[in-house]
This record gives sequence, C-alpha cells and structure tokens, in this order.
Amino acid sequence: MEKEFDFGIIGSGPAGYTAALSAASAGKKVVLFEKDSVGGICLNRGCIPTKTMLHSAEIYEYLNNSLDLGICVDNCKVDFSKIAERKRAVVEKLRSGLERSFKNAGIVTIQAQARIINKNTIEAGGEKYSCGQIIAAPGSSPRVIKGMEYDHKFILSSDDVLNFETLPESIVIIGSGAIGIEFSRILSAFNVQVTIVEIAENLLPLADFEISKRVERIFKSKNINFYTGTSVEKIEKTDKGVQILLSNGQTLNADCTLLAVGRVPNKIENIEGVTSIGDAAGSIQLAHFASKQALEKVVQIPFDETLVPSVVYGSPEIAWIGKREQDLEPGTYQKAMIPISALAKSQCDNALDGMMKILVRDDRIIGAHIVSKEASSLIQQIVIAMQANVSVERLKAVCFAHPTYSEGIFECLMRLK
Ligand SMILES: Cc1cc2nc3c(=O)[nH]c(=O)nc-3n(C[C@H](O)[C@H](O)[C@H](O)COP(=O)(O)OP(=O)(O)OC[C@H]3O[C@@H](n4cnc5c(N)ncnc54)[C@H](O)[C@@H]3O)c2cc1C
Repeated sequence: MEKEFDFGIIGSGPAGYTAALSAASAGKKVVLFEKDSVGGICLNRGCIPTKTMLHSAEIYEYLNNSLDLGICVDNCKVDFSKIAERKRAVVEKLRSGLERSFKNAGIVTIQAQARIINKNTIEAGGEKYSCGQIIAAPGSSPRVIKGMEYDHKFILSSDDVLNFETLPESIVIIGSGAIGIEFSRILSAFNVQVTIVEIAENLLPLADFEISKRVERIFKSKNINFYTGTSVEKIEKTDKGVQILLSNGQTLNADCTLLAVGRVPNKIENIEGVTSIGDAAGSIQLAHFASKQALEKVVQIPFDETLVPSVVYGSPEIAWIGKREQDLEPGTYQKAMIPISALAKSQCDNALDGMMKILVRDDRIIGAHIVSKEASSLIQQIVIAMQANVSVERLKAVCFAHPTYSEGIFECLMRLK
C-alpha cells in the first residue's frame, strides 16, 4: 500500500472525520487512524445514542401524560431491550454511512492505535506512514475520581449507562453538567428514581443562573431529587447497590451511581508541529466545536470561538449563547424575558415549561438563554444574528411565522426598552 499522504489524521470522531472529509474533498490524499469504532464518542457513546434513548423516553412520558390531549393509552409499557436495540441500529446505520463516505472520498482508513513518531510520521500496526501534515483528534475519556473508580457495575460512566440492557430502579447521578442533566431526564422519564448530587450552588452550573433555577423547578416537577452545594465524600458498595455519603452528612442508597463529573482530554505524543483539535485540545468539549476546529485547520474556514452554542437535551431542551447575566455588570445591558407559556404554540403543544431571555447591549444581542421545546433550533437563529452583527432594530423588522416558538425571540425583542 502507498504510505505517503498529504494528511495523517488520528481519531475518527467529529474532529477527525470532518478533517479527513474536508481534506479529501479539497483533493488531498488522506489516511485516517481509528483504534475503536468509526465516529468517535459522539456517534458511538455520546451525542447520538443519548438522543436516540431520549426520543423513546420523551414519547413514553408524553403517552403517560396524554389524557389532557384527549388520548387515552392503556397499558403503556417500556420494552427497554427494544430501546437498546434501536439505539444500536441507529448508531450502526450512521457508522456505515460514515464508512461509505470515507470510501467514496478515497480516504484510507487504518483500524489501529496510532502513534506520532515525528511531525511527519505516524506509526500504526507496525507500519509507518509519511504525512505532509498530522492532525491529532484522539478525543476525551470520562474523568476518574480517586477512591471512586468505575467498576462498570455499580459505579458507572456514561459509557456504562449507554450499555444498560435493563433499567435500574434507582440511580444517583453525581454532577449536573450536560451529561448528568441528559441522563437524569432520560432515566426519570422511564420512572427510574433519580437523585442528583451537585457540588455547585445550582444545577447546570455553566448556565445562566435563571436558566439553572428554571431547570431546578422543572426537575422538581418531574420528581427528580437533587442536592446542590453538596459533594460526595464516599461511595460504598453494598449487597443491593451503592451507599453514598454526602458532605451534608446524609446517606443515599441506590442501585448504582453515574459519575458525570467531566471528561479529560486523551493524551497523545506531544510533538512540535502537530496540533490537537476537538476534545483532546482541552477547551470546549462539544461535537460542533470539534468539527469547526477541523474545518478551520484544514480548509481555513474561520469561526468565532466566542459564538459556540451550548445545547443540553434536558427535555425541554436548554440552549444558550454568549454572555450570562451573572457575568455582566448591572446597568450595562438590557434584558427581556418571556415564559414559554406566553407563546400560542406552546399552549397548542402543551409544552409550557420554559423561558426565553435575551440580553442586549448597544443595540446588539450579547447573550440568549432558552429553556423550551425546540431550544436547540431556536438558539441557532440568535447565533446567526450575533455572528452577522445584526442590530436589534433590524431583527425587529424580521417576519416570524405564527404560531411558532421563534415568535418568542420577536416577543423578547419587542419588550426591550
Ligand atoms: C454521553 C455524551 C453525550 C454527548 N452529547 C453531546 C451532544 O449532544 N452534543 C455535542 O456537541 N457534544 C456531545 N458530547 C460531546 C461529544 O461527544 C464530543 O465533544 C465529541 O465527540 C468530540 O469529538 P472528537 O473528535 O474530539 O473526539 P471523539 O469523538 O472522542 O473521537 C476521538 C476518536 O479518536 C480515537 N483515538 C484516540 N486515540 C487514538 C489513537 N492513538 N489512535 C487511533 N485512534 C485513536 C478514539 O477511539 C475515538 O474514536 C457528548 C459526550 C458524551 C460522553
């Protein structure tokens, strides 16, 4: 096999596959190394399997609460083995699509652990590959806490929860970032008794404080227990599961615990002239950030790192961009806020939980924070407006369709003084 390439790319997650596909479509010869499954964490153990499970969870929850909608469902049951099977099928379908794209683009894929020898040489499977440029995108792994190591049976990482074939009766989720919040909602919708322990003062500590408060209200209404400002001192295994000692002196018992306490960048040889992108670069750990970094690196499409939307699939979705209110000096900005229930569409859908808040300075949006059905799509409208530096006055002239959740953006803009 020819072993000379323009690009050698390590890792086939969103960072690696975007780099490989964009380099190949620019006519470059590309070799891509993957030691595990094509698609990385995002496709195999992250974004995609979680959202597939969430979809089933939401439908189950809707059906259980559908009497108000005039729909009577008797005997609504969860067949979790089917849900797990569908999740695997979705992942496999997308994975084979990605493999086909690599093939069609003429990308050589090597199923092996790769090692960087120098800035132009990669070694994998006992062979050496000469590369004009090397891009390292080896991703990240769940953080391990000393004394609370994963045993994959009672003390679990997100990978383990995604491997569930049956549901536990109860779980303690440690950490309420995106991963903790998503699993809380998926599992609680399936009637698993969920308790969250969060060391920060609020759930979802990276969000705007009013968003965190709103999420807390929603979680209470969904019977999710949570302890904030509380840390875990010790996890002990018992005959029945785990016993967790909290910093407030309380003890929690559950079938298992999920440690959702962040992810650490995977290490790769640190060689001058080779840059890491994606989760391994250690800044924002999101799939869309990883792929934008890849495009910037390979085909020089610049992007603004301050305008990366955050979306948490909390059911309702939670999304934000730009400044949070707690980061701003009082009196230096304007604010407009509406409850989602003010929108006709939310009444039609019986999806009343949520809020929308827009922060403005000098006639420009500087931050937006949304909890709502469709928040993941709504936030994109704001990202485009911010990126294009469109003034609030011009946005007010935009015609928003009715009845939609997008009208909430217009409502907020019209409330700005
Ligand atoms: C449960 C969960 C849910 C998530 N949900 C979302 C979401 O909804 N939206 C979102 O934007 N982000 C989400 N993320 C984060 C997202 O998955 C990551 O930000 C994204 O996968 C990072 O892409 P990457 O290409 O940098 O790394 P990865 O996707 O981790 O890919 C890295 C790849 O490199 C391979 N590799 C590592 N070392 C080597 C080596 N030496 N040789 C060969 N191969 C190697 C690995 O096997 C892996 O396949 C989620 C993460 C988790 C865990």
